[in-house]
Amino acid sequence: MKTIHMCDLYGQYLTLKEEIDAAMQDVIKSTLFIKSGKVLDFEEKLATYLNTHVISCGNGTDALQMAYMALGLKPGDEVITTPFTFVATVETAVLMGLKPVFVDVDPGTFNMDVNQLEALITPKTKAIVPVHLFGQCANLEAVMGIAQKHNLYVIEDACQALGTDYIFKNGTKQKAGTIGAIGCNSFFPSKNLGAFGDGGAVYAKDEELAGIIRSIANHGMKAKYQYERIGVNSRLDSIQAAILEVKLKYFDKHIKARQEAAAYYDEHLSELEGIEIPERVEYSTHTFHQYTIKTEKRDELQAFLKSKGIPSMVYYPEVFHLQEAYKFLGYKEGDFPVSERLTKIVLSLPMHTELDEEQLEYIVGNTKEFFSR
Ligand SMILES: *Cc1c(COP(=O)(O)O)cnc(C)c1O
Repeated sequence: MKTIHMCDLYGQYLTLKEEIDAAMQDVIKSTLFIKSGKVLDFEEKLATYLNTHVISCGNGTDALQMAYMALGLKPGDEVITTPFTFVATVETAVLMGLKPVFVDVDPGTFNMDVNQLEALITPKTKAIVPVHLFGQCANLEAVMGIAQKHNLYVIEDACQALGTDYIFKNGTKQKAGTIGAIGCNSFFPSKNLGAFGDGGAVYAKDEELAGIIRSIANHGMKAKYQYERIGVNSRLDSIQAAILEVKLKYFDKHIKARQEAAAYYDEHLSELEGIEIPERVEYSTHTFHQYTIKTEKRDELQAFLKSKGIPSMVYYPEVFHLQEAYKFLGYKEGDFPVSERLTKIVLSLPMHTELDEEQLEYIVGNTKEFFSR
């Protein structure tokens, strides 16, 4: 059996090696390294795939920061997000002088609990930032409804959910990240569409807003050496864009491979006493950036799997409101009981596009063995 990886980036590369190598060589030959060539090609293809405006940038963290900048949020403004996510969602808000206000997550989906949202809105609230954790959308129709009622922006942190469809009550579908005013994405290597380094993108439905974001990403430039606003330098480089352009062609196939691996886990783990498989919702597809189970015996299971050569990860082992850097926000233990509990019971199993049946069988077999001891 091949070694089991949490995420098999090299294995995936080997399946596309010829195309990726050629695309990288093309960039070197063209010397169109920055804001040209493959970057423009890739942006256009991703925009078509998502049916929205796409501005590529340096990484997903920059995408979030530029979203806050583009919407003109001011120091002291409040943004509502969850304490059970990757740090970038919260960190960028603090860097912009904004106040992150946390809402607990739903224990089944790990996403924003929309029932607790409205009570947190104050006159200072400016935006809601749902994170589509592990590849499944938060309840966006509910979030959008509350946002409209209170005149708030919605910024989707779609860094883990590229390719996920949000399914509206009337049956129409739209890609994750393209429903709120702004969507943010990351091409970090292990993400659903991963580069061989850093990369990110901001999405905007509104053309004018897209223009503002494009200007912010380029030092606030309007025309060459004409600055209309304070900006940053955040760019996707052409070599990464070339790789991503190749991978985008196979993206739906890669998503399907993740979903098939998830279906295998579901089938063999759902009946197991002591484990809860990831919950699915009717309003979203799931692209399985992670396949995350819940079990009271998390640490023991993780150690057992490790002894069998099976990697697993805890996303996330800590909530922000109890961490050193975020103590100043004034929260205490017990404020977000669901998130706090999840940090003790979640475990993400190996999930990538190259998992084969033999590996899946081995992972599932050992998990069953652990629970039958
Ligand atoms: C990965 C990730 C980010 C940040 O992306 P980078 O490209 O690593 O900066 C932000 N939010 C979430 C939810 C993520 O998973």
